[in-house]
Amino acid sequence: MRLNKLASVQTAAIESGSLRWKASAHLPTEYGQYRLHAFVDMHSGQEQIALVLGEVSGQARVLTRVHSECLTGDVFGSQRCDCGEQFKRSQQLIQARGNGIILYLRGHEGRGIGISNKVQAYDLQDTGLDTVAANLALGLPVDQRAYDDAASMLQHFEVKSIELLSNNPDKSRALTRLGIMVEAVTPLEIASNPANADYLATKKHRLGHHLSLVP
Ligand SMILES: [Zn+2]
Repeated sequence: MRLNKLASVQTAAIESGSLRWKASAHLPTEYGQYRLHAFVDMHSGQEQIALVLGEVSGQARVLTRVHSECLTGDVFGSQRCDCGEQFKRSQQLIQARGNGIILYLRGHEGRGIGISNKVQAYDLQDTGLDTVAANLALGLPVDQRAYDDAASMLQHFEVKSIELLSNNPDKSRALTRLGIMVEAVTPLEIASNPANADYLATKKHRLGHHLSLVP
C-alpha cells in the first residue's frame, strides 16, 4: 500500500514524458553512497538508470554527468575511447562536491548505433577510417543519440539547474532545448593514450568537442 502510494507520487512528476520511474535503492560504491534509480521509457521499452549522490531536489547548479552507455569503455576498460575514465572521474568529482547526478543512458552505445554496429565500425577503423567515416561507410548515422530520457530524469529529480560535466557542446544544446537549465559546462577531459589519440582528435576536429589537450 505504502509502496503504491510512493510510486504514484514519484511518477506524477514526469507524467508529461514517456519515461516512468520504476524503483530506487541504496547503492554503496567506491566513490560514495549513491541512490540508484530505475526508469522505463514507455514508448521504446528502454530502461534507464540514474545514480544520485546526496540531496539534489530544489538545488541549483547540480553537478551532472549525462553518460552515454559504452560497454567496451565502461566495463571492459577499453583504451579505444575515454568513456570509462570519464565515468570514474565524474564519480570522483561528484564525491568531492558532496552531491550530484550521473545519468547512465542506455541505448547510446556507439553514439546510438548499438554494440554490434560499433564492433563493425571498430573493424573498419582498424583499416584506417576514423570514427565518423566508419559509421558513414556502414550507412549508419554519425550520432543518433536523443536526450529526452535524460531531461525527464532531471525533471523527476526537480533540480533547478545543472553544471554539466561534458566536452560535447551538442549535449548541453540538446538538454537546453528540452527545458533543462544548463547553468555551466565543466570540461571532463582525459589525457589521451596511444590507442585513443586519433579517436580524440576526430572528436575534436570532426565532432566539435572541446578538448584542449588534443593537438
Ligand atoms: Zn566509449
